[in-house]
Amino acid sequence: MNILIYAENQEGIFKKSVFEAVAYANQVSAGNGEVIAVSVGKVADEKLNELAKYGADKVLNYNQDYLGNFNGELYSKVIAHAAKNCNASIVVISNTYSGKMVAPRVAAQLNAGIASGVISYPEVNGGFKVRRGVFSGKAFADVAINTSVKVLALTPNSFNIVEANKTAAIELGDAGLSAADAKTKSIEVARASGKIPLTEAELVVSAGRGMKGPENWHMVEELADILGAATACSKPVSDMHWRPHSEHVGQTGITIKPNLYIAIGISGAIQHLAGVSSSKVIVAINKDPEAPFFKAADYGIVGDAFDVLPKITAAAKAFKAKA
Ligand SMILES: Cc1cc2nc3c(=O)[nH]c(=O)nc-3n(C[C@H](O)[C@H](O)[C@H](O)COP(=O)(O)OP(=O)(O)OC[C@H]3O[C@@H](n4cnc5c(N)ncnc54)[C@H](O)[C@@H]3O)c2cc1C
Repeated sequence: MNILIYAENQEGIFKKSVFEAVAYANQVSAGNGEVIAVSVGKVADEKLNELAKYGADKVLNYNQDYLGNFNGELYSKVIAHAAKNCNASIVVISNTYSGKMVAPRVAAQLNAGIASGVISYPEVNGGFKVRRGVFSGKAFADVAINTSVKVLALTPNSFNIVEANKTAAIELGDAGLSAADAKTKSIEVARASGKIPLTEAELVVSAGRGMKGPENWHMVEELADILGAATACSKPVSDMHWRPHSEHVGQTGITIKPNLYIAIGISGAIQHLAGVSSSKVIVAINKDPEAPFFKAADYGIVGDAFDVLPKITAAAKAFKAKA
């Protein structure tokens, strides 16, 4: 049973979720067949070799010029080409923004069943079943995939990265396509620079209307900087343009699953919790002891954010200085 994983890169660097996916594939394969990583676009050999550390037996490098910028149509054709060539029975993709664009297309091209938002290893006794999060993480669905080829889109930050320390052969791949094989073309990619992407952040400092106004956000950013965390916010905060929409988490915003979520001056409405309740540890800071967030939080601080935040920031600074 060969397993193919799509190793998504950002400007030549693999995301953490890629290593989770390789380690996942390695665990599922358990030495029974090959784990093949497919990289699309320009990535240096030493970076490609990192994939072996977490379990890839082989790396297929599709680095033609027309694949320089991410394009969902072309990339899915390339991944499907690689999957057919390797005779892969499982294709593992991370359910990131670009993963969401390619996984259904790959499944369609391979005539494969797909499960997205996967949060479990497959159960193979009596069929092939995986668990996925549904309704913004409020429920689970156990789904059986009955097709011979299966596509699994994994929820990032759901699986441990386990080192396998293999060595992998790097082979050039060529799907024989050209830019003309896509109906759309990326003209320019502009990335927010210098910030930790929210969907990949392990630590998130988030704030709501309790911060009173955008002029007070330097306090949130200072704590985030010291912790090496990303910043997030509630919906009204982005609706009022205190913060960019890219930071809005919740039912109508981004769903995140960091190791630590610190919520400052956020009431904890169900629509907000829908996007953050899968965080591993939640700390809520609110001056209202009855705030609903305290029911969802692992730790709660009842107090005024304008008193509490400077104290936490100072304590984090002192801790860092000692470390
Ligand atoms: C269809 C729909 C979808 C929605 N989707 C989302 C979504 O995706 N994400 C989202 O966030 N919301 C969403 N909402 C809105 C949601 O219902 C809440 O209105 C919103 O989350 C409240 O934001 P908030 O907690 O920042 O503000 P508020 O409800 O105003 O709460 C502010 C909190 O700050 C506390 N506070 C005030 N001052 C201080 C202080 N000095 N120190 C400490 N604490 C203080 C208050 O006690 C209060 O608990 C949605 C609503 C609907 C109807």
